[in-house]
Amino acid sequence: MTALDPARTVDELRDLRARTADDGGAWRVAWTDTWLEARAWLRAKLDALGLETHADAAGNVWSTLRGRRPQALVIGGHIDSVPGGGWLDGSLNLLAGLETIRRIHDAYDGEPPVTVRLVDWADEEGARFGRSLFGSSACSGSLVPDQERGRTDRDGVKVEDALRRCGVELDRMLESGSELQSAGAYLELHIEQGPVLEDLQFPLGVVLGTFGVERHGLHFRGQAAHSGSTPMDKRRDALLAAARMSPEIYRITERHGGVCTIGSCVTRPGIVTSVVAECDLTLDQRHLDAAALATMLAEAREAAMRFAREAGVGFEISHLWSIAPIPFHPELIALAEDAVRQAAGASHRLPSGPLHDAAEVARAGVPTAMLFVQSLRGISHNRIEDTRIEHVEQSVVALDQLAERVMGWLGGR
Ligand SMILES: [Zn+2]
Repeated sequence: MTALDPARTVDELRDLRARTADDGGAWRVAWTDTWLEARAWLRAKLDALGLETHADAAGNVWSTLRGRRPQALVIGGHIDSVPGGGWLDGSLNLLAGLETIRRIHDAYDGEPPVTVRLVDWADEEGARFGRSLFGSSACSGSLVPDQERGRTDRDGVKVEDALRRCGVELDRMLESGSELQSAGAYLELHIEQGPVLEDLQFPLGVVLGTFGVERHGLHFRGQAAHSGSTPMDKRRDALLAAARMSPEIYRITERHGGVCTIGSCVTRPGIVTSVVAECDLTLDQRHLDAAALATMLAEAREAAMRFAREAGVGFEISHLWSIAPIPFHPELIALAEDAVRQAAGASHRLPSGPLHDAAEVARAGVPTAMLFVQSLRGISHNRIEDTRIEHVEQSVVALDQLAERVMGWLGGR
């Protein structure tokens, strides 16, 4: 019987890099020839294992090891990269998943207790057409094809044409949703792409879910006035209200957890000789808990109104964009912690700032868990993206441990 071989995963990741990267990084941009070559390379490995493999209507590639029950444990990743990307983002997920399925295949003589599937999501990065999670959102049903039509890449190639070249019809992409009908659980291992685990010195962590986001414009309206002739007590200074409010926004975030960013501040008339008449800010607030996020927003609005009133200026708020938090499954989170502790000795719980394919699967109602492995310097989407080899290997062990536990969990349901 073949045992799990995490060193093989590292070798395969290096081989993929050698084939699809140069000194500038990886070039596996979705819907390009290099991406198709990477997929063919992966396909050969899946075929060698005797898995059934097909592409769905959205271009996601599914490989299936049939088990005694049709209910499926799905392990996912994405082989596409950003231009000049790193060697681990997305591909670690798939190659660790492949190694896990090799181990399961041998441990159960080719027929595990439940069906096990590996999915290579199409175009997670959105690097060419600006639409992230393209394949997984089609599968979850959140993609609206009409909103994507007419997108073009830098060279003016239409998204419909680029997809068609790879065998995908935009209008039929939602048909991929049928693939999730048999899915009993979804697992994804990903590099953290941030600094938290390295700072806390945890090799691995368990992701609680993806942040909800509230994004608003804050608009203060005062009165332009001459900066020499207007006494201080006669001013209606829009910037003064915004400036006084800003530390309060940070205090609100501190009280409730989560993160916030005042990312832009524009003043008008914006000249050195005038009191500011108009001050427009953007506020981005994120939290894993929907109620806490709503409270943060309500308190921020209340604070903005209060500081506007005190400065004698008007205030308006405008909605820019929002998405609800997507929590992962509590029982799978607990199993993931057991698996991580077994593989690395200790585990840490953390939310994910970026969205991942796992969030789309979770929002389609499939119980989902996600593991993060430490990223060195917190850097990703860059050729210097890296993770210690021992941590990569531990992450393969953790995914395998988790897969085994989740097969048991599915069997007992
Ligand atoms: Zn990724």
